Amino acid sequence: MDAMTGTAPPRTRPKVAGPLSPLWPFLLLLAIGLAMPLTGNAYWGLIATRMAVYWVLVAGLNLIVGYAGQLAIGYVALLTIGAYTTSVLAAGNVFPPLPAFAALGAAGVAGAVAGVVVGLPALRLRTFYFAMTTLGFATIVTQITLAWQDVTGGGIGIAGPEMPEPLDTTWGFLYFCLGFAAVCTWLTANIARSRFGRALVAVRDAEVAAEASGIRKPRLLVLVFILAGALAAMAGGLFATLQTYITPDAFTFDLSLLFFIAILIGGRGSILGPLLGTVILTLLPEIAAPLAAWSTFLYAALLLVIVLAMPGGIAALIDPRSRRKLPENRVITPRTAALDALLGQRKVPEPMRLSGIVLAFGGVRAIDGLDLEVAPGQVHGLIGPNGSGKTTTLNVISGYYRPEAGSMAIGTNPLRAGDPEGRATLRIARTFQTPRLIGEASVLENVMIGGTIDGTAGFAEALFALPRHRRDERELEARARLALEAVGLADLAAARADRLQHSELRFMEIARALMLRPAFLMLDEPAAGLSAEEIRRLGALVRGISRHGTGVLLVEHHADLIFDICDQVTVLNLGKVLAAGTPAEIRVHKEVVSAYLGA
Ligand code: ADP
Ligand code: MG
Repeated sequence: MDAMTGTAPPRTRPKVAGPLSPLWPFLLLLAIGLAMPLTGNAYWGLIATRMAVYWVLVAGLNLIVGYAGQLAIGYVALLTIGAYTTSVLAAGNVFPPLPAFAALGAAGVAGAVAGVVVGLPALRLRTFYFAMTTLGFATIVTQITLAWQDVTGGGIGIAGPEMPEPLDTTWGFLYFCLGFAAVCTWLTANIARSRFGRALVAVRDAEVAAEASGIRKPRLLVLVFILAGALAAMAGGLFATLQTYITPDAFTFDLSLLFFIAILIGGRGSILGPLLGTVILTLLPEIAAPLAAWSTFLYAALLLVIVLAMPGGIAALIDPRSRRKLPENRVITPRTAALDALLGQRKVPEPMRLSGIVLAFGGVRAIDGLDLEVAPGQVHGLIGPNGSGKTTTLNVISGYYRPEAGSMAIGTNPLRAGDPEGRATLRIARTFQTPRLIGEASVLENVMIGGTIDGTAGFAEALFALPRHRRDERELEARARLALEAVGLADLAAARADRLQHSELRFMEIARALMLRPAFLMLDEPAAGLSAEEIRRLGALVRGISRHGTGVLLVEHHADLIFDICDQVTVLNLGKVLAAGTPAEIRVHKEVVSAYLGA
């Protein structure tokens, strides 16, 4: 490596494993499905069709459960809604009969709406309570299909829609469902590896970091609920055709469990895993036909085994990144030269000012009348004993806490209290006292999270991998590689983040924050847990960042680092400013020395 000049030699970089690479397992499964007619066994044809139909639902649900981590266990409700919508519209019970495809499309729309209705509680409720509401919704839907007899046929049921020729045969319908499932795989994989997919996982595993990156969870989840609801309801339409006749008892709780467990077995944050999970769970009752009556028990047992024996599911077993050895004796070598390309020449922001900030927790005045000014291009140290209000100050600036009194502004523009997701737009970035990471994602993906708000393509463009989305991805990836280069982690881009050492995670968080090309960067004890040499490199990196115009607010305990690199220092004690000035002034300040620095 060319550390002296700071330019990276050209080298071939390992491609980062996306959710669809390698492609061959998907093609193999598809080929097996397409080859089914060769068996001449229509029963197996039905089972393969059922797998494809279930997968259409699970593919969408996977984004909710596997990616966003929302426990939607009653998703059979969407299948029911889709099956009845398609059947009723095709039968002409309400309106003149529609062709099967039109009915299927209408079911997709109904499912999109229902998906949002089922999903909305997730924006407010904790996971377990959300799970219960989805179950409640499933019960309500079943009761409605039973009670609304003139439309749904009540307990007697209704015939499923018939497909037009040539899709009305066993094999014709199988091919149609396989094609449909393949398209769904492609669509959901497109989302999974887009900035939306990464944001979902960030909301699941590192919610505050997601907020600080400007990710708005409600908006994001609603988009995914729409997609998953539409797919699930269309799966319902296909299901009704497959069954030829549906009654409310076709939509059992077991089926709901099957969908949910397929994802758990498959593993979070993977497409192939849950696909294999769906195949396995659809096959299981066929292979173990005598055990069919025990299916609920089987699922429960399987679930326990998985939770206990392989918490990462199939995905973790087949993920090469969990086995590949990382180099030992790794050294973090930041290259401030990469900062030129990353941060470049930007308009210098105006200073950020806090005045008279007060915030109390119960009786404790965590911040008590704080004045602070962070100037662009400078490093401002914020020091003080434990509990003096340093982290709370950062949380007020980042909008997590609303101060009871006082004001904040950048130049003459007031900085709104609250609104943590809005800070990214103002180019205010931060790291956390405890690093917030997505363990299962690669280091590169973790860093790319930081640039989420700079994507220009919308959800629909990502869904179909349109050019603007692909350009976004290229730009984000290039910027993330620069940021990793700058902090000295370029060689670990493809590694799973949970395999990094603590000190590396601290630098990874800085890289994520740099993705915003921040006007202001707040670092909460970045040197904690670092070796002396790493602290020195961190100091050079932070200085380099500030030289590019960024105003840095540095919370630290290491007095040496503070006095080495800060332009200004503010000392807090019990939420009040004990002293403020240049490092030279602070170093000899009587009260600071006796209260904090020690004799
Ligand atoms: P530090 O300077 O060590 O970062 P903090 O800002 O974390 O200190 O904490 C300042 C004071 O506020 C401490 O007394 C702490 O116990 C209290 N505090 C911080 N956050 C909360 C909270 N969410 N709820 C209640 N008390 C809090
Ligand atoms: Mg703290």
